[in-house]
Amino acid sequence: MMNMEDNKKQEDKKSEIDLKIRANFIREIIDDDSKTNKFGGKVHTRFPPEPNGYLHIGHAKSICLNFGLARDYNGLANLRFDDTNPAKEEQEYVESIQQDVRWLGFDWEDRLYYASDYFDQLYDYAVQLIKKGKAYVCDLSADQIRQFRGTFTEPGKNSPDRDRSIEENLDLFERMRKGEFPDGSRTLRSKIDMASPNLNLRDPVMYRILHASHQRTGDKWCIYPMYDWAHGQSDSIEKITHSICTLEFEDHRPLYDWFVEQLGIYHPQQIEFARLNLTYTVMSKRRLLQLVEDRHVNGWNDPRMPTISGLRRRGYTPESIRLFADRIGVSKSESTVDVALLEDCLRDDLNKRASRVMAVLRPLRLVIENYPEGVVEELEAINNPEDPAMGTRKVPFSKIVYIEHDDFRENPPKKYFRLSPGVEVRLRYAYIIKCVGVIKDPQSGEVTELRCTYDSETKSGSPQSARKVKGTIHWVSAAHALDAEVRVYDRLFMAENPGGENWKELMNPNSLQVLTKCKVEPSLAKAKIQDRFQFERLGYFCVDDDSREGDKVFNRTVTLRDTWAKIEKA
Ligand code: ATP
Ligand code: MG
Repeated sequence: MMNMEDNKKQEDKKSEIDLKIRANFIREIIDDDSKTNKFGGKVHTRFPPEPNGYLHIGHAKSICLNFGLARDYNGLANLRFDDTNPAKEEQEYVESIQQDVRWLGFDWEDRLYYASDYFDQLYDYAVQLIKKGKAYVCDLSADQIRQFRGTFTEPGKNSPDRDRSIEENLDLFERMRKGEFPDGSRTLRSKIDMASPNLNLRDPVMYRILHASHQRTGDKWCIYPMYDWAHGQSDSIEKITHSICTLEFEDHRPLYDWFVEQLGIYHPQQIEFARLNLTYTVMSKRRLLQLVEDRHVNGWNDPRMPTISGLRRRGYTPESIRLFADRIGVSKSESTVDVALLEDCLRDDLNKRASRVMAVLRPLRLVIENYPEGVVEELEAINNPEDPAMGTRKVPFSKIVYIEHDDFRENPPKKYFRLSPGVEVRLRYAYIIKCVGVIKDPQSGEVTELRCTYDSETKSGSPQSARKVKGTIHWVSAAHALDAEVRVYDRLFMAENPGGENWKELMNPNSLQVLTKCKVEPSLAKAKIQDRFQFERLGYFCVDDDSREGDKVFNRTVTLRDTWAKIEKA
């Protein structure tokens, strides 16, 4: 038994670790900025998703980082939709993203923005750059621009249109906006340096012509800003202090800085961190979309998906995902995190708060021959040994119960501590029983029923109940159990890093197993969609969205321990 002092020491140790986890290079930058008063001591971040898919666990890392910094530094965080590409964006995504950020426990208050809100301002900024001789209309095609760009080892070539007069540029740019030119026929480019060792600075495109309707601006525009042009200026307009993005934008930072400096506007600090990669899954939205469209999964919120909505449906808690984000921390070096770490965060959280219940996934009928017919005992069961405040409940017990098929072996291997002929086990919260007979299907030879006797002196809580037996198994009373469907999930991919071109061939064909004949204890009649439980000895489960009154559907959220390593070796 741990005494109070030990308990306290452990808690202190934990919060020490928590603080260490939280300390990261971005916080160091912010602390330095506070010392030098760089942003007047303010912290204002943003999470800028493109609404072209559902958010995934990688986005969760970014959300926890941006909103977490705002929370911890008494700052603000915005939600901004980066909706500059009218072709791939949809309202469904805009809504799911908001739902997911809120579910994770974060609040953008009244600061919900769209890059498209700034299209007018961005256009004016572009005109300013043209007037300064820092941008020009270019007639090269996309292919030609690529050819002119050069390579890492060779400088690029100037566009023949690079020295157009300011007047001509202003005229052409306005006519681009008015829709006088077909898609792809012209672009607006910034005039920087075609010989720069940084390819991002070789006169990058700022606007392209695209006659497409936009979600929010309709047909007002037929020119759309490129990401690099829209992003930093949007940050500046919103007075973002620290604009946090993933490492692949490191080489774009000089361009980010160049734009705000040329315009002479408020200058946020871009900071890059390593994106999250997770084992046994894919994370790019393009691939997740393919899984959905090709029906490899049942939608974006399929419980096997690494999407936030999939994790939610699977039974993940927002707390467990935030804990995960804290534990993995933030760094500058790319790595792949073992999905087992995510699952451990979930176990840590659910262990503290999930009610324990008894459920049998593959029922085997067990008749207690010497138990009186028609008697029902209400036995007391503990809801959560980790949390006495969660109290107890009554579980009905009677002559016929179901146990897990797997908890009986006619010919037990060594160290099999469950039920077998002539052997005693304890029925959790009930009595010690002994197997005295086995009934089989005459055709298949399959065991269909067990005959047992019980020791009436061993009722749970009585002195005799302490009698030593090797195993304790769970059960449900046949007359009282509810029928349920249980969906047992496993990893979506068999390979640790299914990143290559053959990624679809690496899908796990057994990632979903549907068990339709499960029996669960009657207290679960009250369970609501999303409620989470520990099915004793089996794992954590939650009520699926498909669940109906009298027709319960559960998802297996996670096993009790990380059993994957063992399964792989077997
Ligand atoms: P994907 O590569 O999955 O298509 P994306 O980067 O194009 O993602 P965005 O909607 O642009 O998706 O991302 C919004 C924010 O989330 C960006 O700031 C991006 O840096 C961040 N983000 C995206 N994926 C990850 C990840 N795996 N880990 C951490 N942050 C991420
Ligand atoms: Mg992106």
